[in-house]
Amino acid sequence: MDGVELLQELVRIPSPNPPGDTRDIANFVAERMRAIGCDVRQPSPAAKPEALNTIAVLGAGEPRIMLHAHIDTVPIAATEAQKWSVDPYAGAIHDGALYGKGSIDDKAVLASMMLAMMEASEQAALQGTLVLVAAAEEEVGGQLGTKWLADARRLPACDFIIVGEQTGNKVATAHKGVLRATVRTSGVSVHATNPDRGVNAIVAMSKIVAALDLYHRDLARLIHPVVGVPTCNIGVIAGGSTANAVPDACAINLDRRMIPGEDPEDVKAELQSVIEAVDVAPASAAIGDFVYSRWFDSGLSTKHARTFMDCVRGQLDEEPGPIGYLPGSDAKHLMDLARGDMIIFGPGSYEVAHAADEHVRLADYEATTAILLDFLRRTLY
Ligand SMILES: [Zn+2]
Repeated sequence: MDGVELLQELVRIPSPNPPGDTRDIANFVAERMRAIGCDVRQPSPAAKPEALNTIAVLGAGEPRIMLHAHIDTVPIAATEAQKWSVDPYAGAIHDGALYGKGSIDDKAVLASMMLAMMEASEQAALQGTLVLVAAAEEEVGGQLGTKWLADARRLPACDFIIVGEQTGNKVATAHKGVLRATVRTSGVSVHATNPDRGVNAIVAMSKIVAALDLYHRDLARLIHPVVGVPTCNIGVIAGGSTANAVPDACAINLDRRMIPGEDPEDVKAELQSVIEAVDVAPASAAIGDFVYSRWFDSGLSTKHARTFMDCVRGQLDEEPGPIGYLPGSDAKHLMDLARGDMIIFGPGSYEVAHAADEHVRLADYEATTAILLDFLRRTLY
């Protein structure tokens, strides 16, 4: 199978999320995997049946190796569409790079994994099990994708898990978690001719903003060797309606990045105490609407991880890691299924993803495929 052609075919099947209808691309992967003799299943959650996943299994017994990539992409925003210099769904090739929405995120590594399945299927007997997971819903957090697959016990526990994302073919072993929250202050609205009769919710919030900024700086004392420090960003502020009235309400939205080891419940309590310590009287303040997604962290101590690092060294001129992966990934949903180590790995940079003229350099894509093939040869053949 020509790897470039396979990737072009994947890019030519749009799978933007929203809406997150992955039936066409999941069926394409399923068809290819059935053709090489895999046992193929295609579960999807009742809450979103069009978010179709494909799970393909080759071989039997131990060890079990999982290759995981997501099949949804971000949508193309109207402002972004004008910036594309090529058709985002044509799979055009220029100057050694293949262009297209989803080309780097996440179809290149998916294609490498499919090529690895194809070569494995040609072996007389695999010494173990190879599981390919082509997962829906990653771009919207994976709740109805990989998290659902894991919770509904549709995925086996594995001895080594490779989650395909953009790490420049280095090996990432951790990413941060995210906790979002809203802080609201309440005051009393009066006419601006005599503001002292009212209670200004924006002024109250300004004290909280200052306290949260100090809190953010203080977080820098905590440091994780791979992903760095936790942070607290105030991303949105909204309050008041006109300059000639005292505002009675103000709200901010926070994004608190957690490093591996931080418990979201402790972080909630920390934020609560930061807010409570600010004297906003006679206004009042409250924090709520907490939403969080987990961090991910793994070692590299198992035999499979060491073998994988050797395979990367064989292709890459630089030290293969471990590195941190700044965006989140589906790895966080697979932590309970990892009997050994789990890594994030794939060609290119996430900075090229989610943007106009998304592309993958063919040399990087070929290196990804070569690393996966080398690893499987050393592990399962
Ligand atoms: Zn991705």
